Formats: sequence, structure tokens, C-alpha cells
Amino acid sequence: MAIRSAIIVGAGVVGVSTAYALAKRGIAVTIIDARDAAAEGTSHSNGGQLSYLHTEALASDKILKDIPGLALGMNPAFRIKVSLDPDYIAWLLQFLRNCTADRFARNTRAGMEVALESRLEMLKLVQLYDLDFDYQVPGKMQLLYAPEAIRNVENAIRIKDVSPEEQRIVSYQEAQEIEPALAHVGKAPEAVMYAAGEALGDANKFTKHLLDKIISEFGTTARFNARVKAISFSGKGAEVSLESGEALNADLAVLCTGSDRKLMKSIGLKVPVMPMKGYSITAPHGPHTPRVSITDTSKRIVFTRLGDRFRMAGMADLGWGRNDVNAKRIATFIREAKASLPAAADFDQISETWAGNRPMSPDSVPRLGHPHKALAYNLGHGMLGWTMGMGTAERLAKLVEAEAQ
Ligand SMILES: Cc1cc2nc3c(=O)[nH]c(=O)nc-3n(C[C@H](O)[C@H](O)[C@H](O)COP(=O)(O)OP(=O)(O)OC[C@H]3O[C@@H](n4cnc5c(N)ncnc54)[C@H](O)[C@@H]3O)c2cc1C
Repeated sequence: MAIRSAIIVGAGVVGVSTAYALAKRGIAVTIIDARDAAAEGTSHSNGGQLSYLHTEALASDKILKDIPGLALGMNPAFRIKVSLDPDYIAWLLQFLRNCTADRFARNTRAGMEVALESRLEMLKLVQLYDLDFDYQVPGKMQLLYAPEAIRNVENAIRIKDVSPEEQRIVSYQEAQEIEPALAHVGKAPEAVMYAAGEALGDANKFTKHLLDKIISEFGTTARFNARVKAISFSGKGAEVSLESGEALNADLAVLCTGSDRKLMKSIGLKVPVMPMKGYSITAPHGPHTPRVSITDTSKRIVFTRLGDRFRMAGMADLGWGRNDVNAKRIATFIREAKASLPAAADFDQISETWAGNRPMSPDSVPRLGHPHKALAYNLGHGMLGWTMGMGTAERLAKLVEAEAQ
């Protein structure tokens, strides 16, 4: 049976990208979110990097030895919560199973495959529509401070089989010739990874403007302040029940609920997604704001110029589910960001402090599926949902199309 109508739950970057992919195929889409607008969850103030070639999985043979220290809170940038929650333990066991060199290579390549599809979809979209989301292709650099960090990048380049034109290691001197703002780092790196073709943009603006576009272009309906309580399925399709008591019907329900696992669990869908909390701050430009997006690998912080703003994002608290801004964590984050690139932003004029939960899968590969004809899901985009969202949306739409034939 051809799918004529779909209800998408979740209007983050993944849900709205999925709405676009379905709507342009002629499906009547309704998108629903518990919040009062699109991109008010994890897609709100993320790092902004479209890191199509930087899909290194979090689980690796290298991280294994650090896990006891991470669980004891010894790394200010990355913490693993100790909890007896059975779902969390099951997720951690799957994560540990992926901590081998072979799995790291396989997962990194799988992530890159979908990220490259995403890049293609993004390029098509920006040619088609004039969407304002501070999109740029200025390239990306990673500041490498230790021989181990350099070896890790060399290994990742080998695994991904990318050419030196796409990604290479350069000296700090050469990096400054490409990005003069790097002369003003807090600490000089040993070497720098440079990827000239990487892009950036504001995921929040993108999601809101893409939604406006599909509402006007395809007649998509958006419902906000509407939490979905339950979904039931019958031969006729899906019935989506809101907390308000209202029920909506469609041929297909698609879950794009990010790190919120409640609805997924209530319908018996077993997708391994765990929140990993992160923080960001946004400030005006400083005297030396880089054009190229920067990642400080030692502090796990990304720095991105978004129009006249400068975004800094990082911290990884695995297993923390709330998205409140913890005063101590944000103070640590601001201190670390300032130590890394002190002249990149006006740290006295921070306009926003924010926290969000990355919806992590244990292998860093997103999960999408169409388990039966009235249900599909697009989840688990972790650290790279902005990068991968357009790609997984297109994959899901093709899957729905293929199943209907
Ligand atoms: C600090 C930080 C920095 C990051 N930096 C980058 C980066 O530089 N590049 C990159 O590619 N990615 C980055 N990410 C990751 C990226 O932001 C996420 O992967 C992405 O936003 C996930 O999008 P999503 O649509 O799945 O989830 P969300 O944006 O959270 O959307 C899910 C939506 O579902 C709604 N919802 C859930 N349950 C229900 C329900 N029952 N009823 C109604 N609505 C419901 C929620 O309200 C929410 O709006 C970063 C993340 C963080 C935290």
C-alpha cells in the first residue's frame, strides 16, 4: 500500500529533514513536537559543524583504557555516569563491545557513508532554496597537542581512505597561513589537522526555515506544544494520541524523538539510544575570530563562526538525561573555551548558555528503520545529527518508498 500520509513525532533537525524527504515525495506530512517551536531540543544551539569527514565513532580501542577514569569523573570534558538502570547497563555493554579497532573502523566508515550522502542532500537543498542559516564552507581544523592525538588522526585518515586534498595534517605554521586567527591560541598545538571542504551552519535556523519552506511548498502541517502520549497501530495505519486527549490518524507514524526515549519504549521499540549531555555558549566575535571551524581535541571543544556570532560547544556527560544548564559545568566549560581560543570571542558578552542531550547509539551509527507498514523511526544521531540528518532522512524516505511497492 502506498503511504499517503505521515505523522512525524519530533521537530528537531532530524524530524524536519525527514518531513522534507517525505513531503517532497508527495506524502501529506504532519509534524508534532512537545515544545513550542521547531529545534528547541538538542538541535537548538549545537556546535554548528557540518563535519562530513569527521565521523570517528566514540567507541574505540583507544577509549577503553580511559573508561575507569571517565566513570570516576577525572576528565572535566567527558564523564560516564555510574548507574544501575538496566537500559543504561545494556547500552554500555553494547558500547564496550564496539571498543575494538575493527569495530571503530567499521563504524567510522558507516558514519562517513551516511554523512557524505547528507552532504549531497544539503548541496542540492541550498541550490534549490535560499535558506538563511549562516551556511559556509570554510574548512575545519583540529588542534593536536600530543603525539597520540596526531597518531589517532593519521589512523582515522587511513581508515576513511580520504585524499590529502580532503584531509591532511599540517604544521602549526602552515595552519596559521590558512587561518591567521590561530596565531592567538592559548597554547600552540604540535600539529593541526586541516580539512578544506568541511562546512558549518546554524542547525536551529536551518530547522525552523526548512520547516517554513515545506509548510509553504508542500502544505506540511506543524503542531507545537503537543506531546505525543501513545501510538497504536491497526490495519488502517497509526493512531497518534496527544496528552491533550486529541487523536490524529495517518498511514505512517515516524519517530524522530531524539534522546527522549519514553514514547519509543511505550510502543515497545527497542532502539539503543542514550543521552550524552553537552553544553554550548554563544558570544559576539572577539578580536581574532577564526573563519575556519576549529576543534580543540584535548578539551573536546568545537568553535564555529555563525554569522556575527561565535559558538563554542563541548562537554560529554554520558547517561545524564536532564538538559538544565549546570552552573559548575558551564563555568568549567567557559574557562576551558577561553583557555583554548582566548581572542576568538568576547567572553564578557556571552549571549546564551545552553545544554542539550546528544542521542547516542552505542556504535555512533544512526538507527533508522521501518519495522512494520505503519511505523518508521530515525534516531540515534549522537554527536553528528546536524551533519547526518539530511542523509538519514533521505535513506528513510527511500525505505518507506521501497516498502510501499
Ligand atoms: C553540545 C552539543 C554540540 C553538538 N555539536 C554538533 C555539531 O557540531 N555537529 C553535528 O552534526 N551535531 C552536533 N551535535 C549533535 C546534534 O545536535 C544532535 O545529534 C541533533 O540535534 C539530534 O537531532 P534530533 O532531531 O534527533 O533531536 P532533537 O533536536 O532533540 O529533536 C527531538 C524532538 O523530539 C521532540 N519529542 C520527543 N518526544 C516527544 C513526544 N513524545 N511528543 C512530542 N515531541 C517529542 C522533542 O521535543 C524534540 O524537539 C551536538 C550536540 C550537542 C549537545
